[in-house]
Amino acid sequence: MNKLSDRLNRLSASATLAMSQKSQELKAQGVDVINMSVGEPDFNTPDAIKEAAIKAVNENYSRYSPVPGYPVLRNAIVEKLKKENGLEYTAAQISVSNGAKQSVCNAIMALVNPGDEVIVPAPYWVSYPEMVKLADGTPVTIYAGIEQNFKITAEQLEAAITPKTKMLILCSPSNPTGSVYSKEELKALADVLAKYPNVYIIADEIYEHINYIGKHESIAQFENVRERVIIVNGVSKAYAMTGWRIGFIAAAEWIVKGCNKLQGQYTSGPCSVSQIASVEAYVGSQEPVAEMQKAFQRRRDLIVKLAKEIPGLEVNVPEGAFYLFPKCSSFYGKSYNGQTINNSDDLAMYLLTEAHVATVGGTSFGAPDCFRMSYATSDENIIEAISRIKEALAKLN
Ligand code: PMP
Ligand code: GLU
Repeated sequence: MNKLSDRLNRLSASATLAMSQKSQELKAQGVDVINMSVGEPDFNTPDAIKEAAIKAVNENYSRYSPVPGYPVLRNAIVEKLKKENGLEYTAAQISVSNGAKQSVCNAIMALVNPGDEVIVPAPYWVSYPEMVKLADGTPVTIYAGIEQNFKITAEQLEAAITPKTKMLILCSPSNPTGSVYSKEELKALADVLAKYPNVYIIADEIYEHINYIGKHESIAQFENVRERVIIVNGVSKAYAMTGWRIGFIAAAEWIVKGCNKLQGQYTSGPCSVSQIASVEAYVGSQEPVAEMQKAFQRRRDLIVKLAKEIPGLEVNVPEGAFYLFPKCSSFYGKSYNGQTINNSDDLAMYLLTEAHVATVGGTSFGAPDCFRMSYATSDENIIEAISRIKEALAKLN
């Protein structure tokens, strides 16, 4: 008998992490798998950050930090927001958590009541609707397909708002599509939200620095919604620090206090050493960030060019993050070697078994016609993976 709680039984496991695990298991069995499933930079953490962490260990940063994070880190984040985003926050408006994932979850838990609706534009990052469900909220999706570059319009947003709407979760640059909202597009969304003062906005900006079209734009820049925006960001992607587990929110003080209360009962402040390393990330040289961004852009150009040569795939040009999200529905109904492709999860499984390339089917991103490839890997891997995918897809009929 299943004795897990109803809350847990309602929850889906993370598809990105599941696929990554599957690919690691195959690798351990000796299969030559190219892993394009999980989204994390393949670079090592820059040396100066590692040295700051070693120093922190030697200086005995070994005790509990304050629940919202050390003041030195929160001040560094305040400076970052001012310098890079032109936004004024105080240290009391910052709460540091175990990765941006916990930051998003804290904000949802702090604000969403049972039955509240949370608008989640699809394609979405797999964890958003699940976190909303954890809070007993109702995820409401708005679909934006490849023909609109996977970005919702102001009209779509307005049509989805009801008296029960509590929150919108906006991710730009986006996981899984790589789409980036322009300043004008964000302003149009803000102008709609300005009319609904009970709706809060989580702005997940974790891919801020992996942007190929110039300056990052935050919806928090618009005064008419600013008080209701919860910025989520962190060091995972920009500084190649996914394993260090440091993310933060910047928001109105009462929201931050709510998140701190939750965090104080749930996890306490995040890892002390990682916090000091993150101070170095924010105040130290930003050269490594620019170098990684350049490498991602080169790989974006490469994968787009190669993927566009695969018959049957529809590919758009992502403007940020490190994901390609092609439409693959032209293969549905086709088979090879006893494997029939009925949806994008079948396709991802087929690519894993036939081409030994791990990708993630689109269903858990709310986009069953597409699948996701992370190109945070070497040029050689990208070239080899696309060649294998092309060959495997050509066998389907
Ligand atoms: N938001 C998005 C859109 C992500 O893709 C991820 C996954 N890395 C996160 C948040 C969580 O980041 P972190 O590793 O800092 O928890
Ligand atoms: N966010 C990354 C991804 O989408 C890491 C895995 C996860 O946290 O879900 O692949």
